[in-house]
Amino acid sequence: MTTAYRRPVIAGNWKLNKTLSEATQTARDLKARLAGASTAEVIISPVFTALGSVRSALEGSAIGLAAQNVYPEDQGAFTGEVSAPLLRDVGCRYCIVGHSERRHLMGETDAAVHAKTKALLAHDLQPIICVGETLEEREAGATLKIVLGQLSAALADITPEQAEKGMIAYEPVWAIGTGRTASPSDAQNVHQAIRARVEETHGSALARSLRILYGGSVKPANASDLLAQPDIDGALVGGASLVAESFAAIVNAANQ
Ligand code: PEP
Repeated sequence: MTTAYRRPVIAGNWKLNKTLSEATQTARDLKARLAGASTAEVIISPVFTALGSVRSALEGSAIGLAAQNVYPEDQGAFTGEVSAPLLRDVGCRYCIVGHSERRHLMGETDAAVHAKTKALLAHDLQPIICVGETLEEREAGATLKIVLGQLSAALADITPEQAEKGMIAYEPVWAIGTGRTASPSDAQNVHQAIRARVEETHGSALARSLRILYGGSVKPANASDLLAQPDIDGALVGGASLVAESFAAIVNAANQ
């Protein structure tokens, strides 16, 4: 497959961390550190309650705002949920879906990930669709079966034009928050397989343009080697995104 330019993306997932004042302080710090022109598209994802304040703190900056979850219905009797129109309303341009913590701790199914992806696209929000195998699945030789199954389920009946607005994050579950990282070549192999599957299901134009991020203990020290792989188009960063200095260092690695 011929290669295409894909703008690198560095997305920070703050998970369930940071009070309002901590979140706005980190956002301001990042805005200052990343004030210059950036090759990479930069995204941060605070908790729901901090989205509005972080949006205000980021005003005048190119850093984009993502939510960590969405409910597929627009409104109604769905106590405790937040919908895509409300995420737009608060200033989000992106939303993470299918993060392994949601799949494994909250029982989020492939069908739910698909419904959420569709709801986001319908409201012009960019889904960051997470896929990844557990350690058991990897050791059983089932990595590609799991990852490609999750991918196909998420993208079922989504057109290439719609899918292009989103991105995929390959996050091996055993590498998330553990300090263990997939080797650049192991990650590259899975990314290449994801791109090949997208070519089969959605055609070569989408396969060339779709951005596939790697996630799992990405740090300033390993970011460059991972980002140098031909099919790794960025990173979804958890722990190292909580501190402006280390997140900015990862963005700078993508800017090289
Ligand atoms: C994540 O939360 O998506 C993640 C990859 O976390 P960490 O970077 O801490 O492994």
